Amino acid sequence: MSVIVFAEHNENIFKKSSFEAISYGKDLADKLNTNCVAVAIGCSDTNALSNLGKYGASKVLNATGNTLKVFEAAAFAKAFCEVAQSQSGNVVIISNTYNGKSLAPRVAARMNASIVSGIVAMADTTSGFSVKKSCFSNKAFTYVQMKEANKVLALVPNSYPAKESGSSVTPENVSVAVSDADIKTISKSISTVKGKVPLTEAEVVVSGGRGMKGPENWGMIEELAEWLGAATACSKPVADMDWRPHSEHVGQTGITIKPNLYMAIGISGAIQHLAGVGSSKVICVINKDPEAPFFKAADYGIVGDAFEVLPQLIERAKQLKA
Ligand SMILES: Cc1cc2nc3c(=O)[nH]c(=O)nc-3n(C[C@H](O)[C@H](O)[C@H](O)COP(=O)(O)OP(=O)(O)OC[C@H]3O[C@@H](n4cnc5c(N)ncnc54)[C@H](O)[C@@H]3O)c2cc1C
Repeated sequence: MSVIVFAEHNENIFKKSSFEAISYGKDLADKLNTNCVAVAIGCSDTNALSNLGKYGASKVLNATGNTLKVFEAAAFAKAFCEVAQSQSGNVVIISNTYNGKSLAPRVAARMNASIVSGIVAMADTTSGFSVKKSCFSNKAFTYVQMKEANKVLALVPNSYPAKESGSSVTPENVSVAVSDADIKTISKSISTVKGKVPLTEAEVVVSGGRGMKGPENWGMIEELAEWLGAATACSKPVADMDWRPHSEHVGQTGITIKPNLYMAIGISGAIQHLAGVGSSKVICVINKDPEAPFFKAADYGIVGDAFEVLPQLIERAKQLKA
């Protein structure tokens, strides 16, 4: 028995969420008196792989094969399960990232496992095996018992700290029996926005709503985000009106995020918006209406006109950076 963690990377750069998942896997393995194995797929950077040991993986395995260069859920699930089986892995940790969301159910089906997604805390192994997960669009938590011997835990990014608790290990490449026939979809093209902090990974998010009046005013949001090393986000109507791309839309029908700091500027705080951002560790709201519902969910609030407050915040952020 061992705890197996999917270590997700993008062009050989491991995601912060992978370090969190490995730290979680290591702490869980300690509780279960077993070891934590990190499994990467199609990584060609030995240093990056060996670095995973620092987060607590006692072994790092890298599945290789021509068909495993780009993420494809069906092929990756087959490769991952083959490696997990070779390690007698029966508890699997996968981060709830875009790719993780499509990988985890496939892995669970292959392993005939109990699966729980949206996990936000360490599993309780004192009597049986239960996990805490968010539910009702992040407005409540539930505790779920996992009955099967095989378990897949899908961990919410930014809910468990990445801790350096070990040292580098020598990674091993493992060739897996995955062929073209295992690939069910083909990515025709990938266009990435270079240099921007990905929204789901960001520790700080600066978000704008309809109160920003129009796309021409987003320079202020972007400037503040740049000074804070933050990602930018927006409310649904802002994306619907094409002021901002839909990839920035957060909420019930958009992306769910859990940054350390969420700054909401000119956003009313509708329940559907809060569903996607309400679990942020600290929420700061800027709104000219003191009755705006968002203030009820805020840790810090500024009642004021965004067009007066934002330039002052940008100035202050510049001074702090200097
Ligand atoms: C099924 C369903 C799903 C939905 N899913 C989502 C979702 O995923 N995400 C989402 O965001 N919404 C979602 N919505 C829409 C949601 O109900 C709200 O309509 C939306 O969040 C409002 O966006 P907003 O706060 O930007 O705009 P508004 O409600 O128009 O609020 C603008 C705010 O800006 C403030 N303001 C105005 N001028 C200024 C200024 N100069 N300075 C400072 N503040 C100012 C106003 O006081 C106001 O509070 C959904 C709705 C439905 C029915």
